[in-house]
Amino acid sequence: MTEIDYKHWGISPGIEAIREHVLVAKLNDLVAPLVNWSRAKSVWPAQFGLACCALEMMAAGGAHYDLARFGMEVFRGSPRQADLMIVAGRVSQKMAPVLRQVYDQMMEPKWVISMGVCASTGGMFNNYALVQGVDEVVPVDVYTPGCPPGPETLLHSIVTLRAMIQSGEAVERRQRSGSGAEVHIEQRDGQGAPVLLGATREREREGR
Ligand code: SF4
Repeated sequence: MTEIDYKHWGISPGIEAIREHVLVAKLNDLVAPLVNWSRAKSVWPAQFGLACCALEMMAAGGAHYDLARFGMEVFRGSPRQADLMIVAGRVSQKMAPVLRQVYDQMMEPKWVISMGVCASTGGMFNNYALVQGVDEVVPVDVYTPGCPPGPETLLHSIVTLRAMIQSGEAVERRQRSGSGAEVHIEQRDGQGAPVLLGATREREREGR
């Protein structure tokens, strides 16, 4: 077929030029950032506390630490309305199947924060009555250190989780490993400085 010389005839190439002027992208590449952004900004925790760490979790919901700034101050009474489980405290063998049932009833995609050394490893309770790490029962995305971790450290774990959800890293890590993202964070209690992420954290590491 003869190619039309559009310049010579002074006419618009119309649909012929689409491939030169239209950004070609997969629908998934366009939608995924929006989906991840909305997931990160609408994390709803399940109403679930097991031991002393739960008191610190409740403090994070109060006016001083203001979990409401993330829209997370209402801990959901039904797991079907929640997508974040904060395992706050030691997990007894008897509680483990209940914890798993609550997790199974939560919405997908869902996330787990292991709060405190007892939830993460059994802590000082090295005995047959307690689960020696909640990752034996549910996949864990963020391990929060401390006994107990204060609200600052819990907020640090929440901000870290939200950043991973927004970047798509949390889902990608779950898909890749079949388990949780398994990120370990630092303890941040008693620090006046705000929670630091990204570039600021890099500067901190380099001592600038
Ligand atoms: S980590 Fe400490 S504060 Fe948390 S449940 Fe265990 S003993 Fe209690």
